[in-house]
Amino acid sequence: MAELVFFSGTMDCGKSTLALQMDHNQSARGRVGLIFTKLDRMGESVLSSRLGLSTPAHEVGDDLDFWEVVVEHLTHGARVDYLICDEAQFYTAAQVEQLARVVDELGIDVNCFGITADFRTELFPGSKRLFELADRVQVLQVPALCWCGERATHNARIIDGVMVVEGEQVVVGDTSGEGGVIDEAHVEYEVLCRRHYMRRMNSHAARLASATPDVLPFDLDVCPVPPRG
Ligand SMILES: [Zn+2]
Repeated sequence: MAELVFFSGTMDCGKSTLALQMDHNQSARGRVGLIFTKLDRMGESVLSSRLGLSTPAHEVGDDLDFWEVVVEHLTHGARVDYLICDEAQFYTAAQVEQLARVVDELGIDVNCFGITADFRTELFPGSKRLFELADRVQVLQVPALCWCGERATHNARIIDGVMVVEGEQVVVGDTSGEGGVIDEAHVEYEVLCRRHYMRRMNSHAARLASATPDVLPFDLDVCPVPPRG
């Protein structure tokens, strides 16, 4: 039975690397796939991972219809055994519905990879529809780490070093890896544990706090209990 699977996680959890590995494993078995991505960090029509690997891909514009693309391949005699869909958080709800139809009516496996929630902790539109429709949701098990060493579960937007929780969901250049730009300010992202997300304590803020120890109420490590005796 074909399946619609959503591999989800935070930024830096290795989604694109897994997408590339999955394509490699499938094609090594003689299966033929179509690869899609949207706003990849390396530019249009390429799926890249932070580890340096990349492969050509179909760019998903808002008007792309997955159903039509797949049917067109099939009517031209091409084989399609599976789809790899990266950056699926950016897809529209309608596009996720097209992917479900590809699974159900054409019997083709669709593997989607995406970030669950944005920097405001709200679900991306594509991720929301995938949670609703996917046969399986798999949370990626290579955890990204917060600066404190805890498992990172949240994506924080940092503007000129300061964490923000309001603004547009996607800004131009967001996924370039170099960060985007809003009003000449530098926009980047950092993964944090929930505690530090809630406290708005990104690594830059933490460094500032430790450089001025008086802002910390106490630090047990520098106040050891004297041995009794
Ligand atoms: Zn933390």
